[in-house]
Amino acid sequence: MTFHIITIFPNLFESYLADSMMKRAIASKNISVKFYNPRDFTTNKHNKVDDIPYGGGPGMIMTVQPIIDAWKKARGRSQKKKFKTIILSPGGTEFTTAYAKQSVKKYTDIIFICGRYEGIDARVKKIIDKQAEEVSIGNYVLTGGELAAMVMIDSISRQVDGVLGNKQSLEEERISSHEMYTRPLVVEHQGKKYTVPDVLQSGNHKLIDEWRNHH
Ligand code: SAM
Repeated sequence: MTFHIITIFPNLFESYLADSMMKRAIASKNISVKFYNPRDFTTNKHNKVDDIPYGGGPGMIMTVQPIIDAWKKARGRSQKKKFKTIILSPGGTEFTTAYAKQSVKKYTDIIFICGRYEGIDARVKKIIDKQAEEVSIGNYVLTGGELAAMVMIDSISRQVDGVLGNKQSLEEERISSHEMYTRPLVVEHQGKKYTVPDVLQSGNHKLIDEWRNHH
């Protein structure tokens, strides 16, 4: 899977991609990440990527031309690749694990367009047309699309073969509980004892799976 990220702040991704699962996934070539900065695609004197909103109002809107040119560069000419364009937007389709799984099945390349300021000129989506979908990571407003893109990249990468390794991903499918415990068996805090549920110590995997389905 190749992720193409259109952002005016590519540095924001550096530390996250340079460690842990993402680092390994990139090193093993299970995923790759490419950046396109709209500022590098500007045709105006001061490399401006934003302008005032029509109809008035506070803040600035990201302009069409640098984003579309960056998108065309990301899109390339290959006919073999299966592209999806995601425009990060708080009002878009809600991102879920099911969405991540489907994305891995259907596409070889995902382009993320990260908004900033008051958002992106609506004509970006109209120009890209059916190939683009607005997607949200939740019902709250972030300062920019970069964190949202990172959340999706992490979640989608987990679904790419070889990223977690078979054993781990199978385990992930099996454990449906949010309530997990590790050693020690008893934790004491401010005079109170917190212990691990008996069923998890029983060795009975049928009972354990049943318990996990309900916790
Ligand atoms: N009024 C704008 C709107 O409704 O799109 C909010 C703009 S927000 C300050 C700037 C950018 O952050 C958005 O263009 C989008 O790319 C990103 N963003 C903010 N919240 C998001 C969320 N929950 N999910 C995905 N992207 C988000």
